[in-house]
Amino acid sequence: MTAPRLEIHLDKIYHNARELVTRLAKHRISITGVTKATLGSVEIADTLIRAGVSSLGDSRIENIKALRLSQNNKLHNHYLQKDMAMMLIRSPMLSQVQQVVKYANISCNTEMEVIKHLSLEACQQKRLHQILLMVELGDLREGIMPEDIIDTVRDVLKLPNIRFKGIGSNLACRSGVSPSATNMATLSALAERIEKEFDLTIDMVSGGNSANLEWALQNKTNDRGRINNLRLGEAILLGRETLHRKAIDGLHTDAITLVAEVIESKQKPSQATGEIAQTAFGETTATIDRGMVNQAILAIGRQDIDPDGLQASAGIDILDASSDHLIVESFKTTLRVGEELRFQLNYSALLRAMTSPFVSEVYI
Ligand SMILES: *Cc1c(COP(=O)(O)O)cnc(C)c1O
Repeated sequence: MTAPRLEIHLDKIYHNARELVTRLAKHRISITGVTKATLGSVEIADTLIRAGVSSLGDSRIENIKALRLSQNNKLHNHYLQKDMAMMLIRSPMLSQVQQVVKYANISCNTEMEVIKHLSLEACQQKRLHQILLMVELGDLREGIMPEDIIDTVRDVLKLPNIRFKGIGSNLACRSGVSPSATNMATLSALAERIEKEFDLTIDMVSGGNSANLEWALQNKTNDRGRINNLRLGEAILLGRETLHRKAIDGLHTDAITLVAEVIESKQKPSQATGEIAQTAFGETTATIDRGMVNQAILAIGRQDIDPDGLQASAGIDILDASSDHLIVESFKTTLRVGEELRFQLNYSALLRAMTSPFVSEVYI
């Protein structure tokens, strides 16, 4: 089989998504299944829908477009329906509003300038586009400052062919701010203020991403306030919450594995010889002399994975990586040329592997 490759166990991804859908449904929280780490994989999107997510989310309109167009391909899937709700979870670029209106039904927004253009474009295309306004709750990535939200909603409500879908927040991304009872209560309170001010019912209050699961699934209290949606990627794909990267009870953490092939295997000194300057990636490495070791090179590199995000199986240590070489040490056996090694990936390694044209995906 071709290497390097990602082996993707759709049954495990289905199980993870189904479990989270069920557990969160008890708190009346729906899931937007986030496909951005999978480069908008049709197989995975299809699996998420089968497992009961209420919509799909992606940060790149190109991925959403690809998913939309795949809906015409009956052979590929039958769950990805034509009217499936797809949410662009990154604020649209002004230069892409046309595609956003055409392919996504909902987008997350923080700039009136963009929303006005979405409205113009929606009028032109005779479509309705829904807007989720993102609120800044302290993590300092995207979001409207809470004190500006009422004015923004007022402006959004005036725009033709635009529907105000609700509000959302995103935490634990830039600054690692944890979703908590406090900031989630702030979001709920904002939702209620908006409803009162404009005499409307908000459809969606999207609390955040996989980092929100600890808060959402806690047993301490039953009160999830007005939060009725989470946008989940990593928790479904890798089976971990993202605040401490702990495995989520009952979920698979090995739904996706990376397989790479050995292209050199030799006994080599553990310490380099000669005067030591920078490596190819500008680092300097210090090694201790441990005598001769079993060193092997795998045909995969930084162009395809984040070496810090890989976990090898027992008896194998990852030593270094350059653009296209991953260097490992084997403690027990000498590896054979042509032999395949398997690795677990974290989100960063998965993202890069999915994006690399040199890594194929094999669905199992
Ligand atoms: C990436 C992203 C998500 C999903 O995050 P996970 O940690 O994969 O669950 C949700 N919302 C936004 C805005 C994102 O950018």
